[in-house]
Amino acid sequence: MRKDPLAFLTAELDALKQQGLYRKLRILETGQDSTANFDGKKVVNLSSNNYLGLANHPKLIKAMVEATEKYGAGSGAVRTIAGTMSIHMELERRLAAFKHTEAVVVFQSGFTANAGTVSSILNKDDVIISDELNHASIIDGCRLSKAPIKVFPHKDIDAARKILKDLPPAQKKLLITDGVFSMDGDLGPLPALCDLADEFGCIMMVDDAHASGVFGRNGRGTVDHFKMHGRVDIQVGTLSKALGSLGGYVAGTKDFIEFLYHRARPFLFSTSHPPGVAAACIAALDILEHEPELIDTLWDNTRFFKKGLESLGFNTGISESPITPVIAGEGALAMKLSDRLFQEGVFASGIAYPTVAKDKARVRTIVSAAHTREELQYALDVFKKVGREIGLI
Ligand SMILES: *Cc1c(COP(=O)(O)O)cnc(C)c1O
Repeated sequence: MRKDPLAFLTAELDALKQQGLYRKLRILETGQDSTANFDGKKVVNLSSNNYLGLANHPKLIKAMVEATEKYGAGSGAVRTIAGTMSIHMELERRLAAFKHTEAVVVFQSGFTANAGTVSSILNKDDVIISDELNHASIIDGCRLSKAPIKVFPHKDIDAARKILKDLPPAQKKLLITDGVFSMDGDLGPLPALCDLADEFGCIMMVDDAHASGVFGRNGRGTVDHFKMHGRVDIQVGTLSKALGSLGGYVAGTKDFIEFLYHRARPFLFSTSHPPGVAAACIAALDILEHEPELIDTLWDNTRFFKKGLESLGFNTGISESPITPVIAGEGALAMKLSDRLFQEGVFASGIAYPTVAKDKARVRTIVSAAHTREELQYALDVFKKVGREIGLI
């Protein structure tokens, strides 16, 4: 018998099990609804990024079905060969108009948007200045570029300035932040970072994955929220979270986007969206533009739920968004909290090291516009019961 050369991975999995950090995938058996069936159990769903309930919105479904019937299930090629359909171009035009930028390119996901963008515009002679809590896809994009990455402590503008001061003025620099940080739900300090970028001549880039459809007028993102129009060179957003379907986009000047058409490797070497996905994204933009009340509902629910958790005495950190962490401390404790919540009918996923710091393991809650007050109150009652039981409150 051949010895399994991957056996060392089994040992690593066993170690995770021993630390109480081994996770099984929860299987969703219904749509991504506010109350949904996971692993055969009906639970209030506080784990999805479906902020506005668009993932199962009739208008998106209808648009997806109609485009699929008309153009087929797949696009059949990468964008640069034969896979650019008129509906892909329509989506990019609509997004550019929505974002008030010259142009937009759509990628297969937010992850590939980040990975493809940073790696195609920088090389080893350049330098990246990056918040320590930036998303994994930013970090991977930065690594692919081979440019050295200087990490500053979370939102520490003085530390970022110190790094910038020591760099040669002529060196190409990219200053990069999340718009909304996905584990704590706090906002990147965009106005101060834009000032720094101006002062030191940096390319300014923001990843608005969790801000798309949530912050700014009609969900235009943090640049709109902070009124930083014209001061952020590269805006990345996702179509996979609040916009309900799948994809990532990059918004900026016409020449920058055309350059990405020529150089971004996921654009060149990975097949474009099925036409139905592009159609669903366009339908989502229609909803953001014409039914912004959905975003108001999301924020009403956010305030209600946050206040509820805080008044129960939980440590909810520094969130400013519909993402509210309930910080438990040690990894095993966060996983226990998540497991007990689930048994009681509430799904909020446990998140531990290496996704967050070792002593800041948590359960992460995300409310949506689709949650009813009854669902949110039920979840709060369960948090109260379980939080007391395991000694968090
Ligand atoms: C979710 C997320 C992404 C990835 O977006 P997908 O469309 O799911 O690939 C990128 N950046 C941040 C900050 C995210 O939270």
